[in-house]
Amino acid sequence: MAFYESLGVAKRINAAAYYTALGGSLMSAEVIAAMNDASKSFISMHELQLKAGAKIAKLTKNEGAYITSGAAAAIALSILAFRTKGDIPEIQKIINGTAGPSEIIIQCGHRIPYDPAIRLAGSTIVVVGNAIQTFEYELESAINSNTTAIFFVAGAHLATPTLPLETVVRIARKHKVPVVVDAAAQLPPPSNLWHFTKDCGADLVIFSGGKTLKGPAPTGLILGKSIWIDAIRANGSPFQRLARAFKVGKEEIAGIVTAVEQYVNLDHAAEFEYWERTTNMWVEELSNIPKIKVIKEDLNEAGQPIPRVGIHFSSDIALEVIAVLQELDPIVEVVHNYRNTIWIGADGLQKGEEKLVTQQIKKALAKLNL
Ligand SMILES: *Cc1c(COP(=O)(O)O)cnc(C)c1O
Repeated sequence: MAFYESLGVAKRINAAAYYTALGGSLMSAEVIAAMNDASKSFISMHELQLKAGAKIAKLTKNEGAYITSGAAAAIALSILAFRTKGDIPEIQKIINGTAGPSEIIIQCGHRIPYDPAIRLAGSTIVVVGNAIQTFEYELESAINSNTTAIFFVAGAHLATPTLPLETVVRIARKHKVPVVVDAAAQLPPPSNLWHFTKDCGADLVIFSGGKTLKGPAPTGLILGKSIWIDAIRANGSPFQRLARAFKVGKEEIAGIVTAVEQYVNLDHAAEFEYWERTTNMWVEELSNIPKIKVIKEDLNEAGQPIPRVGIHFSSDIALEVIAVLQELDPIVEVVHNYRNTIWIGADGLQKGEEKLVTQQIKKALAKLNL
């Protein structure tokens, strides 16, 4: 069935990244088959979350795992777990609006567009440090009796002057405050699935299911200490409590379990080689256009070790180029973070689309007389 055609929805070539706005990632045939299979029977959702969580915990070398409806929901759920420790009367107090104050500490350089999810858990955000730097004494002095947790965002793309995770964990432990790491887009390498918890000592770590893991877009993972995973469970669906609003279905659970299994067993070297080959080809294809500067970078926009190609213009015309790309058929999606640059990467491509990316970009540049 040509579903998108039936609605008149345009298909796009994704040379940008695994963005929710573009539908997340594309699932493998095995993931779809598992979802299809799961759709055919009734089960107990309590039992499925427990057993699927145990399997993901084993695959990711963590004590426990919980499947959420995305990384943003995972932020809210992890904080609900820290606030309530899974105690039902405490959960009820948040529902009633009678729970005590709760503060989540974030370094200024870690403010991200997804941190409003902290407010969904009823907590307030306390920012320490500034955009240039954070000192240990700033973090330590922000901790008080209302502190619920420290929210740490992982990624080489973020401000380097923030305190490293090891330092944050050391200070947090001294004050008996838990640490949750948002590593939503920090794959590859697959070892990051256990690095932040096992190597760095964070209590919990969060990943998106619909990015590099190539699970269903409305899935996410919380991995880490069992006591917190159990506390998350007490807040989550199918219970009719706070996080019922974040439910995942049996099909999504089947999909993400299968996707994680495939991801940890993937030939990561071969995948990297494909990205290298494709981005090198793009550099060559674009190198003879005089008015642009083409640069290859080793890290993508989320700081992941995924190569990408930057196309720099001599003036602030990136938005115009993107507007023309949106008028062409097929549409090629690119990343745009600076006024005079667009970025293209190969990780969201389907085989056979490689040459179309530069072909459409060249068409757009020609239309703009570049
Ligand atoms: C993508 C992302 C999120 C949100 O992930 P969803 O799974 O779409 O909810 C949260 N935090 C960071 C750092 C992200 O990159």
